[in-house]
Amino acid sequence: MKYISTRGQAPELTFEEAMLTGLARDGGLYVPAEIPTLSREDIAALKGLSYEETAYRVMRPFVGDSFTDEEFRGIIARAYEGFGHAARAPLKQLAPNHFLMELFHGPTLAFKDFAMQLIGQLFQVALKRRGESVTIVGATSGDTGSAAMEAFAGLDAVNVFIMYPHGRVSEVQRRQMTTPTASNVHALAVDGDFDDCQARLKDMFNDFDFRDEVKLAGVNSINFARVLAQVVYYFTSAVSLGAPDRKISFTVPTGNFGDVFAGFIAKQMGLPIDQLVVATNQNDILHRCLSGQGYHKGDTIPSISPSMDIQVSSNFERALFYAYGQDGAAVAQLMDELKTGGFEVSQGAMQALGETYVSGRASETETLATIQSELAASNELLCPHGAVGVKVANEHRCAATPMVTLATAHPAKFPAAVKQASGVHPALPPRMADLYDRSETLTQITNDLTVLEDHIRKTIAK
Ligand SMILES: *Cc1c(COP(=O)(O)O)cnc(C)c1O
Repeated sequence: MKYISTRGQAPELTFEEAMLTGLARDGGLYVPAEIPTLSREDIAALKGLSYEETAYRVMRPFVGDSFTDEEFRGIIARAYEGFGHAARAPLKQLAPNHFLMELFHGPTLAFKDFAMQLIGQLFQVALKRRGESVTIVGATSGDTGSAAMEAFAGLDAVNVFIMYPHGRVSEVQRRQMTTPTASNVHALAVDGDFDDCQARLKDMFNDFDFRDEVKLAGVNSINFARVLAQVVYYFTSAVSLGAPDRKISFTVPTGNFGDVFAGFIAKQMGLPIDQLVVATNQNDILHRCLSGQGYHKGDTIPSISPSMDIQVSSNFERALFYAYGQDGAAVAQLMDELKTGGFEVSQGAMQALGETYVSGRASETETLATIQSELAASNELLCPHGAVGVKVANEHRCAATPMVTLATAHPAKFPAAVKQASGVHPALPPRMADLYDRSETLTQITNDLTVLEDHIRKTIAK
């Protein structure tokens, strides 16, 4: 199994190489040269299996020779053993034919744990075998950072630096990044917004001297291994609702497009997905683009669903790559235009996108109202991201096809907004109850590439 860049100019890599590399050297993102498929019988055979066994069968074809069967089974087992629910990604019913998939039973209470815990184990096995060490730098809108720190804390061969937008993450999110005590994980509060953090991360990857010197690796959803981990729960949920004999729709609260792109991969693999609904908050560049208005950057407006406060949605590049018939040169051209503000999507590509995705948005008021109304209707306390999903799902679901809305975080990660909407203060699970008593360590730092790179060099030299 080979991996190719969405911009067509980087060397082809194996799964392991693509995973350890992160961003391709031509600035593109790695995708499998061919998406493997599961037959109808393969999918039917997933009925009743554990999450781990399903994960093994769904992901195995993507991994190729990079890991042995036994290694890969062990990796999956260790990745999910710390989850607080035996089903890992349980479904709850909200209404007739509407289901919520709870993706917040991992160690940091957001869906990012599904991919990050797996990637931590994959890195550990691969680096040990190679006798190498790496520096992981990540940009986070809140949840990726803590999930990465949790997954890599204490591993010898890895230093982790997480850039988050200073003052723009929730207090629980911040504390989850500033209270880990392992000496190899570091929180950087960058003066800027998430798009600044993500742009500096890409700058570091494009600074080849720095990249090679510190052996830079990335665990943002530019890393295909993360997307792959997220493909699994589309299968577990669809199969438990009747696939492959029945079509299933999904609504995905979206920011960087990694999670919903995993749904696209699941569909390409043969899972009968009907609608794949992209739900955005007021930062609705993706909804505007999918509605035919082109892809044009605006300013990011902070919202109560901060993990979706994004204007430059990294993984949308992967969606465009397939919509443009895997034409790397066309994608490279669009990404060039994006540097100066945006681009229009060709008619053919719009049609291809329309065959996979539909979209919607939720304003701040609508998000708050949905938290309140869903609590009244189903006794389910949603986090603001899940609420964006439910609001948009309600606009798209129909009686014929089950709709699964992804609940991407636990409500206790966003207590202020949840309380404001519902009057209920969501309690942290007992294993995290002392979060507010732990002491915080962070470095506040300027949004400047040289300053950031110097800081990282000095810290790892210690
Ligand atoms: C990261 C995140 C999202 C957005 O997911 P993408 O894969 O970036 O589209 C949505 N909700 C929560 C809680 C998140 O942490």
